[in-house]
Amino acid sequence: MSDLSRRERMKRAPVAMPERAPDVRRTDFEEVNDGYTPEMAVAEAERCLFCARPTCVTGCPVGVDILEFVRLVGAGEFLEAADVIAADNSMPAVCGRVCPQETQCEGACVLAKKGKPIHIGHLERFVADHARNLGSTVPTPAARTGKRVAVVGSGPAGIACAGDLVGAGHEVTVFEALHELGGVLAYGIPEFRLPKAIVAAEIDRLRKRGVEFETNAVIGMVDTVDDLLTVEGFDAVFLGVGAGLPRFLDIPGENLIGVYSASEFLTRVNLMRAYSGESDTPLIDVQGKSVVVFGAGNTAMDAARTAVRLGGAPVRIAYRRSPDEIPARNEEVAHAEAEGVVLTTLVAPTELTGDEDGRLTGVRLQRMRLGESDTDGRRRPEPKPGEFIDVEVDVAIIAIGNMPNPLLLRATPDLDRTERETVVADVDTGLTSKPGVFAGGDIVTGGATVIMAMGAGRRAARAIDEFLRTETARRS
Ligand SMILES: Cc1cc2nc3c(=O)[nH]c(=O)nc-3n(C[C@H](O)[C@H](O)[C@H](O)COP(=O)(O)OP(=O)(O)OC[C@H]3O[C@@H](n4cnc5c(N)ncnc54)[C@H](O)[C@@H]3O)c2cc1C
Repeated sequence: MSDLSRRERMKRAPVAMPERAPDVRRTDFEEVNDGYTPEMAVAEAERCLFCARPTCVTGCPVGVDILEFVRLVGAGEFLEAADVIAADNSMPAVCGRVCPQETQCEGACVLAKKGKPIHIGHLERFVADHARNLGSTVPTPAARTGKRVAVVGSGPAGIACAGDLVGAGHEVTVFEALHELGGVLAYGIPEFRLPKAIVAAEIDRLRKRGVEFETNAVIGMVDTVDDLLTVEGFDAVFLGVGAGLPRFLDIPGENLIGVYSASEFLTRVNLMRAYSGESDTPLIDVQGKSVVVFGAGNTAMDAARTAVRLGGAPVRIAYRRSPDEIPARNEEVAHAEAEGVVLTTLVAPTELTGDEDGRLTGVRLQRMRLGESDTDGRRRPEPKPGEFIDVEVDVAIIAIGNMPNPLLLRATPDLDRTERETVVADVDTGLTSKPGVFAGGDIVTGGATVIMAMGAGRRAARAIDEFLRTETARRS
């Protein structure tokens, strides 16, 4: 740690993340942020006040020892910093890029009060990329236990769970419904925000550690959870199947040609490699078309920015609350606006209109105002009677949230679930109502965040390990 005084540290300006110019990046799918250089990382780490009671650590859902890793970055000990993060976070290169730091670690930083929190996410990304570029080592495998675990779903919850289970010496097979691994990290979040190579490197590392992957394996279709436990002989099952079923608006015109869910739109672009220019599969054509995206979460920002890159013009986000309530990460909103996305707030769609061929031609938006606070603390949007705007649009993308896909749950009737069709599981262990079956991530919480899914996967891995060891002890 350098010998700067507290006053000097506080006076220093935050080190901005270098990013590609908006007019260049809006024409391709390459990553927007360039990442810190080592000098930038050290300079940013040197701003840390090293609080006696680090609130940033409390703000991190998986409790990464942020104070220590930032101290090591400041001292130029980047690989040691990577080890500190790895103790609690198995995907720092992903989390450094996509975590909502402003509501977590950075939001809790004492410097946030002055609007200058330490850029913990940028530092985490730097450290993770640095370690990966040097070719991080694969841990020595633990002694084999002879126990077999099936992990259903290869999103952050499944990946984190599989990593810790194989580390504990269990045999792990991941079953993934799609042909590509990584869950939302692969098919949802676009290349310009999270390069596919980073997710692929994480999967590759798991493969080298002995995890087996079966793609195109939809559990609940041919094999059920019961089959995994009985016919296939797995000793435990972890369900990390996410919440991938899109919600719709339930307004007239949703079946018109040109109306898509954000899931379909982003999945087509991501899994059919539109971002690489190599796709030979028909894509959603937005070139030169007027696009509207409903919603203002990360998914909506991703869909709008993807539409910009595919040539949509203009691309508008229509959101029913005010800018203060926008749930997307601050950075994504700023990037979207810089790339030309138009934010229209306090409006809600009431009707989609089309021509005689059934093609979308327009949307009627009702003007809204904010009323009393909702149960989640955000002010509830209320219609302004008789105030509408009619907008001509060719493509509409619905990004108002997702819920769990019922397929696996229908095939597992003895699994307790909530009214929202999420699985009931213990917060600390992921244990469900079905013996030997654990769950975590969006399937339990509903749509949440990568780090929360990952944390749940890791907690479940610990509980599964204990369950398997207790079972063995009981039988011997
Ligand atoms: C477009 C988009 C952008 C987002 N941006 C951010 C962000 O910036 N920051 C952030 O923190 N969070 C973000 N999120 C939320 C975050 O990605 C999720 O909370 C997280 O991925 C949940 O992880 P999971 O492992 O529970 O599920 P998922 O990532 O959804 O993975 C579940 C996997 O299970 C598979 N599966 C489903 N059913 C079956 C079955 N029956 N058999 C086998 N496999 C099955 C699915 O194909 C999928 O691969 C975003 C979400 C979306 C959709």
